[in-house]
Amino acid sequence: AAVEGFDAEDVEGAIEEAGHGPLPVLAIVGRPNVGKSTLVNRVIGRREAVVEDKPGVTRDRVTYEAEWAGRRFKVVDTGGWEQDVLGIDASVAAQAEYAIEAADAVVFVVDATVGATDTDEAVVRLLRKAGKPVVLCANKVDGPSVEADAAMLWSLGLGEPHPVSALHGRGTGDMLDAVLEALPEAPAQSFGTAVGGPRRIALIGRPNVGKSSLLNKVANEERVVVNELAGTTRDPVDELIELGGVTWKFVDTAGIRKRVHLQQGADYYASLRTAAAVEKAEVAVILIDASESISVQDQRIVTMAVEAGRAIVLAYNKWDTLDEERRYYLEREIETELAQVAWAPRVNVSARTGRHMEKLVPGIETALAGWETRVPTGRLNAFLGELVAAHPHPVRGGKQPRILFGTQAGTKPPRFVLFASGFIEHGYRRFVERRLREEFGFEGTPIHISVRVRE
Ligand code: GDP
Ligand code: GDP
Repeated sequence: AAVEGFDAEDVEGAIEEAGHGPLPVLAIVGRPNVGKSTLVNRVIGRREAVVEDKPGVTRDRVTYEAEWAGRRFKVVDTGGWEQDVLGIDASVAAQAEYAIEAADAVVFVVDATVGATDTDEAVVRLLRKAGKPVVLCANKVDGPSVEADAAMLWSLGLGEPHPVSALHGRGTGDMLDAVLEALPEAPAQSFGTAVGGPRRIALIGRPNVGKSSLLNKVANEERVVVNELAGTTRDPVDELIELGGVTWKFVDTAGIRKRVHLQQGADYYASLRTAAAVEKAEVAVILIDASESISVQDQRIVTMAVEAGRAIVLAYNKWDTLDEERRYYLEREIETELAQVAWAPRVNVSARTGRHMEKLVPGIETALAGWETRVPTGRLNAFLGELVAAHPHPVRGGKQPRILFGTQAGTKPPRFVLFASGFIEHGYRRFVERRLREEFGFEGTPIHISVRVRE
């Protein structure tokens, strides 16, 4: 049956597409210069993960959405790593470790024209330990003459090497077919499968905002649950901490506690770690140093969590150091620089004095509740009907596009599909989002709104 001019099948399709759960994550790892970034560009089908020829350029974006044969997944690019001249093995292994950690499957890229090096062997050991499905990509196989070199990579013991030319696209389709076979439909840490397990928190923020201080504070004052006893995790980088009577899993805490001293590539390393932690978590507690001006780096971290669709809490740290003047300017900065997350619960804390630590948990709970909110279709449409009647879309070209009906296609974060009679302008979409928040809360969560237009 048709609904207001929409084919029932189209409506169902739109809801299914918009309501997709968390996407599985594919990590692309390998030594510098084997062609990881070039491959990522191929996989995502655009030139977003720019291949930089200039050394020292740090990239801040590390995860991308991709689609192959109708399936969507996320790609983590580890190609932004600046070669660390002193400890190349160590740095390649370290970056690969984070990416593998967060991934559901891994593409291991080897330069077939060079063959397997000691560093490649080191990454193979990591892959074995991690036990994630691996697709071996023998890159730079630009023509048949290099095929034999690709076959040599059977020796790595990772199964069939897929000969690929990331540069020209040769063999990438076959390799992606193998990737889809290796990649589960939903992430292993799927929110659905973790029902009853501890909720997962990523404590993120730029270097020196006080992450490790805060973690130590909560871990020392509250009960640290011994991982082995709890029996729920074998992941040494995650930590179970009991806060406010509830056990939480702080993900990737090893990365917070372990001080990484690197000159080159440190920013990229931090971005990769943040992205990995965000992927594994349900809620991101974003720490901001309130004593300093809010920076572009703070905004990038916020954007990363928003784009990943995680519940968000903002914690303004080092509150003990603030004088009246700084407090005044901080409020102005928050208004202008962090307007995109004006909906996030906020706590003003001091990891040093312990100020307001008890407010963290209520903030986290509020954000998770917003993230899981589901609005019944009847209530949503009553709301939309009133909204459209009171505030119609502006007339464009003699026509007035209308939102006809809508539905919430998913949660974690809330995703809506609106069905409309014509193109709905950006400003009006923003207005609808604002009104949805006023009506239904959604505190601490990004919300997605997609619009389908009647043909
Ligand atoms: P990354 O450091 O692993 O991310 O490597 P890049 O993607 O930056 O590539 C390193 C260099 O290898 C660049 O100059 C690429 O153009 C080149 N390259 C990447 N893939 C191929 C390929 O399939 N064939 C050839 N001939 N060159 C490639
Ligand atoms: P991370 O890099 O985010 O893990 O930051 P750290 O926890 O290592 O903290 C960086 C610096 O800020 C250290 O010197 C801490 O002692 C200091 N610091 C952290 N939290 C606070 C706080 O609440 N108040 C003050 N005054 N200093 C803090």
